Amino acid sequence: MGKQSVMKTAVLIIGAGIIGMLTARLLKQAGVAVIIIEQGYAGKESSWAGGGIISPLYPWRYSDAVTRLALWGQKHYPAILEDIHANSGIDPEYIQSGLLYLDIGDELEQAIQWEQQFGYDFKCFSGEDLKTIEAGLDYSHGERQGWFTGSIGQVRNPRLVKALREDLLKLGVTIEQQTQAQAFISEQGQVKGVVTDKGNFYADKVVLAGGAWSARLLEKWLKTPKIAPVKGQMIVFKAEPGIVSRIVLSKGRYLIPRKDGRVVVGSTVEFKDFDKTTTESVLQELVQEAHRIIPALANYPVEKQWAGLRPGSIDGVPYIGEHPELKNLYLNAGHFRNGVVIGLASCQLLVNQLLAQEPIVDPAPYALTEERLVEDSRKIDLSTTI
Ligand SMILES: Cc1cc2nc3c(=O)[nH]c(=O)nc-3n(C[C@H](O)[C@H](O)[C@H](O)COP(=O)(O)OP(=O)(O)OC[C@H]3O[C@@H](n4cnc5c(N)ncnc54)[C@H](O)[C@@H]3O)c2cc1C
Repeated sequence: MGKQSVMKTAVLIIGAGIIGMLTARLLKQAGVAVIIIEQGYAGKESSWAGGGIISPLYPWRYSDAVTRLALWGQKHYPAILEDIHANSGIDPEYIQSGLLYLDIGDELEQAIQWEQQFGYDFKCFSGEDLKTIEAGLDYSHGERQGWFTGSIGQVRNPRLVKALREDLLKLGVTIEQQTQAQAFISEQGQVKGVVTDKGNFYADKVVLAGGAWSARLLEKWLKTPKIAPVKGQMIVFKAEPGIVSRIVLSKGRYLIPRKDGRVVVGSTVEFKDFDKTTTESVLQELVQEAHRIIPALANYPVEKQWAGLRPGSIDGVPYIGEHPELKNLYLNAGHFRNGVVIGLASCQLLVNQLLAQEPIVDPAPYALTEERLVEDSRKIDLSTTI
């Protein structure tokens, strides 16, 4: 796209992470002309960096607003992932590996109440019985209890975003990469388009799906959602199939076994602005935790360490809906630690609003109300939230 070029479309989406791309997919399938602009490359930020667990880590800690989106996503993901795989030719590697919780401690009662309310199939295992779930666990440091559900799945993020991008291109969606939205074009309180470093783009409606960067773009012009970057560092072991077979979660750290045997280990929660550097101390800490949980991992090398910026929000409740100060400007951002599991439902809910359809869930908890907006994103403090 040359400088100063002018283009008009029905819906323009800012940001080609999982949220922007899933929103574009749903719109295109409904026959809407849609374009995505992305300041870097499609699917290379948080959506690339994440673990891909299709569940909040400790789901009972979240509000019903997050749970409702998660449940909808868990129900609909397998079929949609199959469809994306078939259309793109790229396998996002969905595996229903189940999720094993160790060391839940005094949260067990709350967890049991939560699973009974939402109909999950968790079972308690202790001592040697745990080996029927995950053979490689270490029991040397005392008796252990585990809580397991077989229904939770996972995807491999880099493959999911690659598949989504390919799928969109095949559906005929344009993705303008290396194109940064810098301001909104508006007339009489309505958005008319976006100013970018590659020229102006005009659209009937604009969706901001800018992940951790969403507040930064808005705050120059409008009140902004309480969204701030929260760094997560991860590592991956080049292990073999069978060394770890379930997602295992212990004391806030998790192991995710991929199809080819690699094991992803994460993750930190750091409040460091837009800094994505990785550190030796975190590398050592994650390696030690992984060895503590599955000792056989000590036989395999760490292949890579990386960090991503989660779009942090208060209690992890995303912003989905129209901006109260600028008509036809919509937001879908702030999915924090759960953008994969709750992203599918959040995109469907936003598309329901864009197309004036019956919403899949009550949109009220996600709306951009006055109390959920702020003038200056530097004042956002997420350190006491999830
Ligand atoms: C370490 C880690 C582990 C995680 N694990 C899980 C998990 O197991 N399960 C789960 O559900 N979630 C997980 N998450 C969270 C999940 O990855 C995020 O919530 C999700 O990726 C957010 O998607 P997004 O599209 O909003 O953001 P992003 O993927 O960051 O995409 C936003 C895009 O917008 C672009 N953009 C921003 N501003 C502009 C602009 N002005 N102009 C043009 N483009 C712009 C950015 O370049 C970026 O590509 C994890 C995240 C991390 C970091």
